[in-house]
Amino acid sequence: MNSTALVWFRNDLRLHDHQALSDATQHHSHCLAIYSFNHKTLKHTGLASRGPFRKQFINEALIDLSQSLAALNIPLLVTDESATEAIPKLVNEHTINAVYAHREQAFEEQNDEQSLLNSLRIPLKLYDGGYLVMPADLPFDDDKIPDIFTQFRKKVESLSTFRTPLPAPTKVMLPLELKSTNLNPTNTSIDPRTAFPFRGGEKAALQHLKTYIWENQYIATYKETRNGLLGSAYSSKMSPWLACGCLSPRKIYDEVKRFEREVIANDSTYWLIFELLWRDYFRHVYRKFGSRFFFRNGLALRPSPKKMRKNTDIFHRWTEGQTSEPFVDANMRELKLTGFMSNRGRQNVASFLVNDLGIDWRWGAEYFQHQLIDYDVYSNWGNWAYVSGVGNDPREDRYFNVRKQAQMYDPEGLFVKTWLF
Ligand SMILES: Cc1cc2nc3c(=O)[nH]c(=O)nc-3n(C[C@H](O)[C@H](O)[C@H](O)COP(=O)(O)OP(=O)(O)OC[C@H]3O[C@@H](n4cnc5c(N)ncnc54)[C@H](O)[C@@H]3O)c2cc1C
Repeated sequence: MNSTALVWFRNDLRLHDHQALSDATQHHSHCLAIYSFNHKTLKHTGLASRGPFRKQFINEALIDLSQSLAALNIPLLVTDESATEAIPKLVNEHTINAVYAHREQAFEEQNDEQSLLNSLRIPLKLYDGGYLVMPADLPFDDDKIPDIFTQFRKKVESLSTFRTPLPAPTKVMLPLELKSTNLNPTNTSIDPRTAFPFRGGEKAALQHLKTYIWENQYIATYKETRNGLLGSAYSSKMSPWLACGCLSPRKIYDEVKRFEREVIANDSTYWLIFELLWRDYFRHVYRKFGSRFFFRNGLALRPSPKKMRKNTDIFHRWTEGQTSEPFVDANMRELKLTGFMSNRGRQNVASFLVNDLGIDWRWGAEYFQHQLIDYDVYSNWGNWAYVSGVGNDPREDRYFNVRKQAQMYDPEGLFVKTWLF
């Protein structure tokens, strides 16, 4: 029998390991897809929630997705309207029978889901996605998610294996009289010194995974190189594709495990999975604490003794890389000109803003949200809270001495020279 599904794409811009798309294509004869480019302004800084680098990356990902979906006869509509406005209209215009999407945990995204559940008169089928370990597979109840990463990791590692990623659907749907939105490539200039010279899209993501693990075998030395600062090879650089969902974490896990079986299993191969568990951890912890992630005192139960000033001049100098602290400034200029910064850099500039400049950590988190290509609500706000001493960190005095860190990680000053001169 003929029926039509609508797949609502969110932070899952791919075909592989996409439960919502797989089920929609399996149970219906026709299918169309929608993505809403929601333009929001951030609460504390007034910045656009999505800056030019991430916009460009997502645009590239959508162009790629649209081509892949077209091969299955699924048109992709991209709209500037909110999903809560656009989806009910589409449902009425095209006699849609069910809407399929991946569930999100964050506050605004959940509001959208709730609003659609209230307004649609057809089923909205929501699935968990984007995790390495699905909520249903955790070895503890949701309200018992450990507050400390090590406890979480050890329990999760005791699971014998994680779910294997789903293959991309291959069923070609019956055609619809509807055209995909015509998307034009944009051309935001990215500084050639960037550590992330890659494009958005599932195909680029899968190619990068292949190059990183199999062709260059950088995975075999990941643990020794991951604290680097310059060039595209020092860490995996998977985060931007993970953030908009061009790559499933379970796909990475699967490839790492295959590499361990076929080539070598060592501390480095383990450590990439370890880092992916950090990513999962923040997602699961968000499910427990909800919007406390955005509160001044974060997840901490007691008010923070930190100053948390709201001084726009000092904040502006930090964003522009003009604090007079070379290691901080070099990192902030890299972020401003490329949309990317190493993990080492992020820890240092965040600690400097909060502990040395005494600025409200949420301003820093918002600037990152605007600027990062790989912005991910859970990882960004979770890490900021952690570094700022209001997250779930067993150590209360996490402080990065930026000069010592520069001596340790940039002993020849090459990174600073690259960005400051
Ligand atoms: C203040 C601050 C803000 C951050 N904001 C974000 C963000 O918005 N989006 C984001 O993806 N990461 C964020 N991170 C985490 C981390 O810096 C990046 O994931 C990492 O630098 C991305 O580069 P990579 O893919 O080469 O990492 P790799 O070292 O190759 O790690 C592999 C993957 O593991 C995950 N991962 C690694 N470290 C962390 C971590 N500390 N927390 C959560 N996941 C991690 C990422 O998915 C990453 O792609 C933030 C860290 C800090 C200190």
